[in-house]
Amino acid sequence: MDHLVTATAAEGTIRVRAAITTALVAEARDRHDCSPTASAALGRLMTAAALMGGGLKGERRIALQVAGNGPLRNVVAEAFEHDGGIGVRGYALPPDVDLPLALNGKFDVGGAVGRGVLQVTRTLENGMPYTGIVELVSGEIGDDIAGYFATSEQTPSVVALGVLASPKGILAAGGIIAELMPGTGEHAIATLERAAAALPPVTALVRSGADARGLVDAVAREMAPKTLRELPVHFACRCSREKVEIAVRGLGVTTLDEMVREKRSQTVICDYCRQVYELTPREVAALVSS
Ligand SMILES: [Zn+2]
Repeated sequence: MDHLVTATAAEGTIRVRAAITTALVAEARDRHDCSPTASAALGRLMTAAALMGGGLKGERRIALQVAGNGPLRNVVAEAFEHDGGIGVRGYALPPDVDLPLALNGKFDVGGAVGRGVLQVTRTLENGMPYTGIVELVSGEIGDDIAGYFATSEQTPSVVALGVLASPKGILAAGGIIAELMPGTGEHAIATLERAAAALPPVTALVRSGADARGLVDAVAREMAPKTLRELPVHFACRCSREKVEIAVRGLGVTTLDEMVREKRSQTVICDYCRQVYELTPREVAALVSS
């Protein structure tokens, strides 16, 4: 089962979060019918959202958006507290973009995304959003998240995100983010850099049976890691019939009246989870009179 571990290492100077997200990415791939390249991009971003949203409570959320000039124009992932764990939703547009493998044998996510920006939006408990935008480093997602930590939060970090996809499905997915805590010294930075250089690919670790603690160990074994918390991770959406009705009501009385006269029903499909909501002409009429 997918899960996320939060740990500290090097006497509390480094925070490590690691997650297994194979089922999460598989569900996103199936819901959106993604190509292997789009699955890799979406899966990496959803894994990053889970890792960055690992401590969220209540109405707090984190949303990541990668917008580039490549064929994969837009990748979005959002994480929030859900059902005693971390809920993650997301989509990639268009979902059928597929490129030949890159020279290193990996998915050419950077080629699919192109040049552009990463936008990180943190929503507070009171609903206030705070947004940071950085230029993409490579479009490979992992580098871009590390670039965000360096630029926007002045935090040196190690980010490793991996999705192993075949045309038939997702074979393995997971990720690690290790961040230096504020005010730590040169020694901790050097230790983290050494660990990053020796880190095997995340998907290789997941395929060999590592759980999230195993991923933490892979980066922090030499730094006496201590697990603080373990949470389940799963696909979840924040859409609902009530929210759809509010959106439809937003079309305005004139449009709704017209729909009622022509006895048209309204179909709304959620961008994030592809859930289909049908409103019959009678239900549309009820919206008008309310
Ligand atoms: Zn939805």
